[in-house]
Amino acid sequence: MPSLVVQTSFLGDMVLTTPLIAHLARAGPVDVLATKAGATLLANNPAVREIIVYDKRGADRGVGGFRRIASRLRARTYDSAYLAQGSVRSGALTLAAGIRERVGFASSAGRLFYTTRIPPIEGTHHAAKLLSLATRDPLAEAPRAQIRPHLYPGMIERAQVDEVLGPSSAGAQLVALAPGSVWATKRWPYFAELAHELSALGQVVVVGGAADRELAREIVGATKGQAIDATGRLPLLASAELIGRSALLVTNDSAPLHLASAMNTPTVAVFGPTVPEFGFGPLAERAAVAGNDALTCRPCDRHGPQRCPLGHWRCMREITPDVVARMARELL
Ligand code: SF4
Repeated sequence: MPSLVVQTSFLGDMVLTTPLIAHLARAGPVDVLATKAGATLLANNPAVREIIVYDKRGADRGVGGFRRIASRLRARTYDSAYLAQGSVRSGALTLAAGIRERVGFASSAGRLFYTTRIPPIEGTHHAAKLLSLATRDPLAEAPRAQIRPHLYPGMIERAQVDEVLGPSSAGAQLVALAPGSVWATKRWPYFAELAHELSALGQVVVVGGAADRELAREIVGATKGQAIDATGRLPLLASAELIGRSALLVTNDSAPLHLASAMNTPTVAVFGPTVPEFGFGPLAERAAVAGNDALTCRPCDRHGPQRCPLGHWRCMREITPDVVARMARELL
């Protein structure tokens, strides 16, 4: 009974889809349709039989690419498709691939193409919502351990992290900081001050993509060159390995938070214009959330706007480095 899971959205969503994949794999082989970047996160995952890359913005763009992928899927004769990403294109693709049973959320744009529509419950974790596609029971409370995602860095990722850390940090307690986010208002502005505080407790290492290099430079400067800048130097799965080796991650509401959940790394998550109740809070066994709960304007946007619509950005500015440092110390 082979199943197909379709997940071609953000990388954090792919991480949070791994509990669904693991659940389905107990009943039979599971293949995953993923973007190129999303596919890298599934390397070594024992629950995945095959990863089919859908490069929808590149080589598989347009009608030609759609037809090509539909025909590849059709050849694999899936019994069921689980639409973890709910676009019209994904729904249409599973229909064009001749997959008899197509399960997705009743609220998704592509719902017309589904044979089973699951009502999503607001306020539950996104990983639990995704899992409900398989359990068909959106009301059931999934235990935290069941919705904790899992990633599987291998030898390659371990070697990549060894190289970035270098021999001098061997044996040191690592404290990872992830200061970046695509959305400007979700970037807590005091990571440099925090790094200065935490550098007495361990080896600070900055994780993130190439776009986070400037933020990393500030942090390295605040620690007088002691912090290690890993931004833009590691593929995603290697970043998960680095976070997995760390005693703590302090992060914004962004993809590294989900990498920490997958590696069960103690996490301090700083939420500004968004809130964990949107379904993207930390799932590590030990985790704390910093947020300015007194503000009536919060949350103001599902993703976080690029600028504060009120101009004061109090949701982030009023979370002081002292508050976050105290949370970090408690978890270390
Ligand atoms: S409106 Fe409020 S929640 Fe939104 S960015 Fe501004 S301070 Fe933050």
